[in-house]
Amino acid sequence: MMTRLGTAEAGPGEIDTGRLEVGETRDGSSFGLPVAVINGAEPGQTLYMQAVSDGDELNGVGVVQRVVPRLDPAELSGTILVVGIVNYHAFQVAEHRNPIDDTKMNRTYPGNENGTSSERIAHATFEAATRADLIVDLHQGSTSRMIDEVRVRCGKRHRLHEECLELAKVFGCGYILDQRGPDGQLARAGPDDGIPTIDPELGGAVGWDETSIEKGVAGVFNVLSHYGFLEGDSDYERQTRASGFDQYGSPVGGLVTFKRELGQRVSAGEVLFEVTTPFGETKAEITADSDGILWRTRRLPQVATGEYVCSVGTDIDTY
Ligand SMILES: [Zn+2]
Repeated sequence: MMTRLGTAEAGPGEIDTGRLEVGETRDGSSFGLPVAVINGAEPGQTLYMQAVSDGDELNGVGVVQRVVPRLDPAELSGTILVVGIVNYHAFQVAEHRNPIDDTKMNRTYPGNENGTSSERIAHATFEAATRADLIVDLHQGSTSRMIDEVRVRCGKRHRLHEECLELAKVFGCGYILDQRGPDGQLARAGPDDGIPTIDPELGGAVGWDETSIEKGVAGVFNVLSHYGFLEGDSDYERQTRASGFDQYGSPVGGLVTFKRELGQRVSAGEVLFEVTTPFGETKAEITADSDGILWRTRRLPQVATGEYVCSVGTDIDTY
């Protein structure tokens, strides 16, 4: 049976790429998202995978462009549907948000067929995603610095929480953030529609980060093995899980120096960062409110009063 996504169509044992048309650009040209269909020779489950939902998060498409050439449909059981670049307009201008409606794509799921530019793209990709049994939405901590982790966004009381958490554990970045996300995330809309969904956050980079991309590639192959798309089993390992996420801003303006490395444990009361003047005079020392792991930091040192500095994952356990 032929499987189609946009103009891509592949019979059993075939792979095809094409475009999923989602509208027209300002000059009236139609445009489409780059898509791939990998139709396994044997029947099985369907995996949906997408990247660049946020336009400056390129590690995901780095994963896609390495994984797809390594997939042999003759060796595959089941089907993989891929949207390589979701946020078309933001990607063109290397920005996080869609410049057509100044919206963050991952707040618009499940989308709206007759809505704004972002809502229409969300709708088109959600239609593809909900054909699957599993959803992987490849993100990263934007252009800031962040550890490699996988987010479970449905919340601990959701009926699909266990399935989402298992998918996150199988992906296996080492860290999981298990905390209900904001409305409009694909990792919330997917589970609400009955499909286990994860949001791997592959580090944070301007452009591509090799280490994070390789973790993403390994994660996708772990998923393919564990859920029977490929032969071989994935022996998954215990993950360090945070269930809380504290954000820190600066109480003063100046230059930030971190006193802990990314991924390092911090204890309540320990200094996380200091803010100095251009002449090295200390203006403030900011301590951790609770125990946790330094999870994400800003990239540039200069801050204004109230500006975001870092995040600490809290309520740590292993899962
Ligand atoms: Zn993102």
